[in-house]
Order: sequence, then structure tokens, then C-alpha cells
Amino acid sequence: MLKIKNLHATVGGKEILKGLDLELEPGKVHAIMGPNGAGKSTLGNVLAGREGFEVTEGSVTFQGRDLLALAPEERAAEGVFLAFQYPVEIPGVNNTYFLRAALNAQRKYRGEEELDSMQFLKRVREKLSVLHIKDELLNRGVNEGFSGGEKKRNEIFQLAVLEPKLAILDETDSGLDIDALRLVADGVNTMRDPERSFLVITHYQRLLDYIEPDAVHVLADGRIVESGGPELAKELEQHGYAWIKDRVTPEA
Ligand code: ADP
Ligand code: MG
Ligand code: MG
Repeated sequence: MLKIKNLHATVGGKEILKGLDLELEPGKVHAIMGPNGAGKSTLGNVLAGREGFEVTEGSVTFQGRDLLALAPEERAAEGVFLAFQYPVEIPGVNNTYFLRAALNAQRKYRGEEELDSMQFLKRVREKLSVLHIKDELLNRGVNEGFSGGEKKRNEIFQLAVLEPKLAILDETDSGLDIDALRLVADGVNTMRDPERSFLVITHYQRLLDYIEPDAVHVLADGRIVESGGPELAKELEQHGYAWIKDRVTPEA
């Protein structure tokens, strides 16, 4: 599904990812944990192709294609979804309208029929129902004045409507109450599918109380320094990140 090899990336001229290797399997939920400043958000941003994140070495293959050669919107159309840690507000642009435009742009790129308003509405209703969320956010401006919890709900809703193959969720956890965490977790659990992978980025173990990851990877100083099962997250919760420092070897 996703194969990252020896990935080096810089932000503002500073090297943040320093030879990161990671493989994601389809249908699995992979958690990325790690201390603050390790490069977790940078990894998400590099995968989404965000401006200002420069890859200087290494490769990323997504479903056999060179992901790094694709423009951000092409990556999205190929099925890569990145929920931003700080979602952008687009005041005055109707949330549902925005989402339909995004979905149809992706479908067009893939050579699929665009959805007309009736078909789109049907999908929206379907997703609202499986996610057990209310439709009060639909006709507001994109993230305009949304609370933290509402942004999360919208993020999960977008994910459900777009049906990506790889969903990258970057969660700080900070500022999110238990209800919001549950909402994200329920969304991920509902959207689990044999053909969809999740990359759940999180600083704290708390979120993983609600999402049972298939694999846990620890990112420290720009590299994956440890991989394991769900028990690794529990270990980190108990012992913190201090012991990870021993695993971070300076570059030769
Ligand atoms: P994490 O998500 O693991 O906390 P980040 O990927 O956000 O870490 O940040 C890794 C490092 O990159 C930090 O030292 C941070 O200050 C730096 N960094 C992130 N974004 C930028 C930016 N836009 N310009 C300069 N430095 C940045
Ligand atoms: Mg950070
Ligand atoms: Mg971060």
C-alpha cells in the first residue's frame, strides 16, 4: 500500500526527517507516536505534498506509484486523505458544496462519473447515519467558527464521504476532550475496511484506548526507531519517551 524508504525531508532548510523507513499494509491501522518535535506532523505534510516540505532523499511508493511525483490534488485523487492538525477555515464557502466539489474533482481525475446533487446528498445522508452525526455542520462555512469538537466531526465526515484508501490523521490530543477523542476513534473504527489504511499520528496514548491499532511505530528525531503491536503504545504510556533517547543514534 505505502512504502517509505530512507525518507529525508527539510522544512525551512532544516532537516527534520532523517532516513525514515515505514511500510503500511492495506486494511490496517498504523499508529505513529513520538515526542514533540520528532517530525510526526512533518511526515503527514510530506505525504500530502504540502508546500514548504522538501524531500531531499528517499522514496515513497503508494500502490506501486511514485507518490512524490504527484501534485497534492493528484495524491488526494489517488486516495490519500490528510486531516490537518489545524484545519483551515474557508469562511463563506458552504461546507457541503466544498466537499462535493472536492469529491467530484477526485472522481473526474480517476475517470469516474461525477455525482449530481441527488446522488451526493444520498451519500451524505448515508455517511451521517453510519457515523451517527447530525447534519448541522453541513451548511456552515468550511470550518468557520467550528469548535475543536466540530472540526473533528467535520474531518471524520469528510473522510467518510471521500472514502480514501489511505487516511492520515494528525492528532495533537491536546485541547480535545474525551467526547472529541471518542468521535475520532468511532469514525476510524467505523471506516475500517480491508482496502483502507489508516496512519494515526498521536502524541499521547490516550486516543489508542479507543482505536486498537494493528501496529505502532515510534518516531524520534526523524526516524522510526521502534515498531510493534498495540502493547508498544501501552509501554510508552507507562514509561514515557525518555528510553527512546537510547535508540536515537547520531548520524555517522
Ligand atoms: P511533531 O509533529 O512530531 O511534534 P513536527 O513535524 O511538527 O513535529 O516538527 C518537527 C520539527 O520541525 C520541529 O523542530 C519544528 O520546529 C520544525 N518545523 C515544523 N514546521 C516548521 C516550519 N514550517 N518551519 C520551520 N520549522 C518547522
Ligand atoms: Mg508538534
Ligand atoms: Mg505534530
